[in-house]
Amino acid sequence: MMDLKQHIRHVPDFPKPGILFYDITTLLKNAEGLKATIDRLAAPYQGAKIDAVIGIESRGFILGSAVAERLGAGFIPVRKPGKLPSKAIRETYDLEYGKDALEMHADAINKGERVLIVDDVLATGGTAAAAVQLVKKGGGELQGLAFLIELTGLQGKSKLPGERVFSVLQY
Ligand code: AMP
Repeated sequence: MMDLKQHIRHVPDFPKPGILFYDITTLLKNAEGLKATIDRLAAPYQGAKIDAVIGIESRGFILGSAVAERLGAGFIPVRKPGKLPSKAIRETYDLEYGKDALEMHADAINKGERVLIVDDVLATGGTAAAAVQLVKKGGGELQGLAFLIELTGLQGKSKLPGERVFSVLQY
């Protein structure tokens, strides 16, 4: 099996001093790396009857749309404020570096649809927790959250109580 960690670049002090940034562009540009990444992110949900994958801006778009296609599901973007053209619902949250908000189109999820949230990194969990709230407000049945990378020392899972959290790689 391909060692995905070998292809992830570690960038110290980006975007701020003290942050070690996990750069997945070096993994995704590799054809075998991209395929293995999507294979491993999607594998636990084959047969889970996922209706839609929610991808969090912006690296969650890259991974989430590929996972959605692999699962035969639709794709729903969760975006930074002011980017979505139609009526949106909003949730504010704390980042590992700063504060922000996320939005989703109010009519994106049909009531009772089975949804999966996908993002690249689970750090403090604030971003993912906001996405969970948007799914609940939007009427979705959350089946789980899938991350390529989990920074276990930051205990992001503690912000996602009762949710099924999967990560391909742990640091
Ligand atoms: P958090 O809300 O702290 O879990 O942060 C998660 C979001 O921030 C994800 O969308 C990641 O893309 C990004 N992120 C946080 N920490 C890092 C990191 N060390 N390297 C790369 N991306 C990160």
